[in-house]
Amino acid sequence: MQQQHRIIVIGAGYTGASAAGRLARRLRNEDVSITLVNAEPDFVERVRMHQLAAGQDLRPRPFREMFAGTDVQLRLAKVTGIDVDHRTVSVTDPNGAGEPEDLEYDTLVYALGSAWNAHAVPGAAEHAHDIAGRPGALRLRDRLAALAPGEPVVVVGGGLTGVEAATEIAETRPDLDVALVARGALGDWLSPKGARHLRKVFAGLKITAHEHTVATAVEADHVTTAEGDIPAAITVWTTGFAVHPIARATALETADNGQIVVDATMRSASHPDVYAIGDAALVAGPGDKPLRMSCASGVPTAWQAADAIAARLTGGKLPTISARYFNQCVSLGRKEGLIQYVTADDRAASAALTGRLAAFYKELVCKGAAWGVANPTMGLPTRRRRATGEPVRAGATAA
Ligand SMILES: Cc1cc2nc3c(=O)[nH]c(=O)nc-3n(C[C@H](O)[C@H](O)[C@H](O)COP(=O)(O)OP(=O)(O)OC[C@H]3O[C@@H](n4cnc5c(N)ncnc54)[C@H](O)[C@@H]3O)c2cc1C
Repeated sequence: MQQQHRIIVIGAGYTGASAAGRLARRLRNEDVSITLVNAEPDFVERVRMHQLAAGQDLRPRPFREMFAGTDVQLRLAKVTGIDVDHRTVSVTDPNGAGEPEDLEYDTLVYALGSAWNAHAVPGAAEHAHDIAGRPGALRLRDRLAALAPGEPVVVVGGGLTGVEAATEIAETRPDLDVALVARGALGDWLSPKGARHLRKVFAGLKITAHEHTVATAVEADHVTTAEGDIPAAITVWTTGFAVHPIARATALETADNGQIVVDATMRSASHPDVYAIGDAALVAGPGDKPLRMSCASGVPTAWQAADAIAARLTGGKLPTISARYFNQCVSLGRKEGLIQYVTADDRAASAALTGRLAAFYKELVCKGAAWGVANPTMGLPTRRRRATGEPVRAGATAA
């Protein structure tokens, strides 16, 4: 009997879990084994981390329920390294302790996502909070719950995550003094209609916007800027995500920011038996602009990688979907939202949806994204094909 082709997917966020489910739909259990490695036992809805931090409880989504009855084998473990020459992934127990073990793969899908940039400015790692993952969001939740009325909370970062965090906190805790620090004008990436709406919501929630202000350091009780210190009992840092250092420590070709360089099928430019997806991959989008780290653009990269792996193993046709943007969905608390329609390459178009309808739409998008992950073998029809080709080995030429 032909040996099973061993596919290991590392990281079970939006993209890794989607890729594993799609692979199970496309390929036969007799031909391939699919192992999904993740450090946490539950799927984390990262797009709701500001809600978790603000005190809302999220629905638990255990992987063992999500993947029950599928051909995906779950492995609760922390990835500590990859040897791309020997095709092994080193794992320990989920806490990073215990005896290390090497898992062998024929094809690796790298989907470890990203975290916050704790070293963006001096003092951030020691004094600031993050909402890029569950542990950070839970720490912030505890701190917020302990704050007395009138105490100042400063959110640094005027992008999507910062705006969502500031509005969520201000709506939940109107007794706090919430401020946001933005390098440019508030909502300067939005259409005039979208930016006007954002200002209206900020005014309604009494959030102070420190515009054209660059935070240069964080202390225990303030944020330092060129314009002066801003008092902060809590600082929330949201100025962009940083990828995990694991890929950069391998022989994989990576960009300056540590993202893995891939081709149009999400296959590593340097190692054809490795695919990278989601935040961890440097993917050329429309106009050759790198795709923004987002769930919206990341999930199609998971489909692309899974379909490409299946096609290469079964002698099928390679997928040719090209990623594009449609809208940016921004929650502004639970009662308000903003859907900014964008061009294919993510520039604001004039149209924007605002108000309760936008909040409802954003909620639907979040639910839909989680549903897609939680129902890995539902949705598209199953088209399992027999593997025909030889397993792709290191050194083979990337198509
Ligand atoms: C507050 C917030 C709001 C957001 N809102 C939006 C939005 O509205 N729209 C949008 O498109 N995007 C949004 N994003 C961005 C989006 O969440 C990410 O781009 C997306 O989660 C990336 O998916 P991923 O699968 O690449 O990585 P992740 O979802 O981060 O998944 C990575 C997985 O790898 C696991 N992992 C990491 N390291 C290890 C290790 N060493 N060993 C084992 N497992 C490991 C993690 O536990 C996780 O399960 C938001 C992000 C945040 C933080």
